[in-house]
Amino acid sequence: MRYVSTRGRSPSVGFVDAVLAGLAPDGGLYVPQAWPVFTHNEIANFAGRPYAQVAAVVLGAFAGDEVAPADMLAMCEEAYATFRHPAVVPLTQIGPNAFIAELFHGPSLAFKDVAMQILARLYDHILQRQGRTQTILCATSGDTGGAAVEAFRGRKSVRVMALFPEGRISEVQRRFMTAAVEDNIACVAVAGDFDDCQAIVKDAFRDDDLRQAVDLSGVNSINFARIAAQAVYYFTTAVALGAPHRPVSFCVPSGNFGDAFAGYVAKTMGLPISRIVVATNSNDILARAFSTGRYERGAGVATISPAMDIQSASNFERLFFEATGRDAAATEAAFNNFAQSGGLDVPPAALQMMQASFQGLSTSEDDTRATIAGMLAVTGQLIDPHTAVAVAALPRTSAPGPIVVLSTAHPAKFPEDVAAATGRTPALPAGVADLAARPERFDRAPADAADIKARLRAFAGV
Ligand SMILES: *Cc1c(COP(=O)(O)O)cnc(C)c1O
Repeated sequence: MRYVSTRGRSPSVGFVDAVLAGLAPDGGLYVPQAWPVFTHNEIANFAGRPYAQVAAVVLGAFAGDEVAPADMLAMCEEAYATFRHPAVVPLTQIGPNAFIAELFHGPSLAFKDVAMQILARLYDHILQRQGRTQTILCATSGDTGGAAVEAFRGRKSVRVMALFPEGRISEVQRRFMTAAVEDNIACVAVAGDFDDCQAIVKDAFRDDDLRQAVDLSGVNSINFARIAAQAVYYFTTAVALGAPHRPVSFCVPSGNFGDAFAGYVAKTMGLPISRIVVATNSNDILARAFSTGRYERGAGVATISPAMDIQSASNFERLFFEATGRDAAATEAAFNNFAQSGGLDVPPAALQMMQASFQGLSTSEDDTRATIAGMLAVTGQLIDPHTAVAVAALPRTSAPGPIVVLSTAHPAKFPEDVAAATGRTPALPAGVADLAARPERFDRAPADAADIKARLRAFAGV
């Protein structure tokens, strides 16, 4: 399986190189040269199989002959054994034709664990084979850092430095990072906001000397392996609800568009999905793009679903590339334009193609809070604010048939906002109930790329 860049100026690479590189050298994102497709029977055969087995088949289709099937299965079994629920991603029913897929039973209580747990094992597997040690630098607005630290702590071939904006993430989010005692993990509280942290990471990646010296790598959602790993739960949940014999729709709380794009990948691979509803909070760049074709940065606002406070959704470039019939020149021009002017126009034919699969809907803060309270009243279930943004969109969707909301975080990850909406404070699950009592370990740094890069060298011992 070869991977090509959405901007068409980098040579194609294999699965292993696409995973370790993250971003393509021409600034584009890697996608498979041709999408693997499962037959009706192959999909029907997923019914009743353990999650890890389906994951190994789906990921195996993307890895081709670069990872031995037995190794892939062993890694998937280990990765999903870390989840607190034997179904890994269990389904609950919230209405006559509405369901919730709980993606938050992993170690850090957010859906990022689903991809990060297998990604860490893939990294270790590949790097040990190559006799190499890499350094991962990641900026987090909350959940990615915790998932990365949980997945990579103690691994031999990888060290991780996580940058987070001091005072701008929840205490539970911070403690999932800072409680790690392993010395291949370094957490740095940056005196700035998430954009400052992300700018420092980009600066580090542009520094060729540093990149080589520490063998720098990245695990944000531009990494194709994360998308591939997220396609898996579309298969398992849709099949549990009757696919491939009947189509299913999904409603996805969205920020960087990785999760919703993974649904499109599953659909392209043969899974009958009627609609993917892209649910956003008031940061509605995606919802506007799908209704008008104008993809334009707005003024960023802070919401109670902070993991979706995003003004540019990296993975939209992958969809643009697909929707234009893989026109790399048009994709490059559009996203250069977006970088310079903050906006781009989706060509009419491409918009039509997007609208055949996607519907974008934005939910207000008031509606989000009312939905958290309403879910408790109607089903007795506490949901987190990100999930509530999607549940609130359900009455407005045009999706026919059964629809599944992807629940992306455990309510205990956002206890203050859930308590404010319902009067009930969600409890942390067993195993992490003592999180607030664990000692924290982190450094503080100014929002200065030179400072962080010096720390990164020292951390890598070069
Ligand atoms: C990251 C995240 C999202 C957004 O997912 P994208 O793939 O960036 O669209 C939604 N909810 C939670 C809780 C998250 O951590």
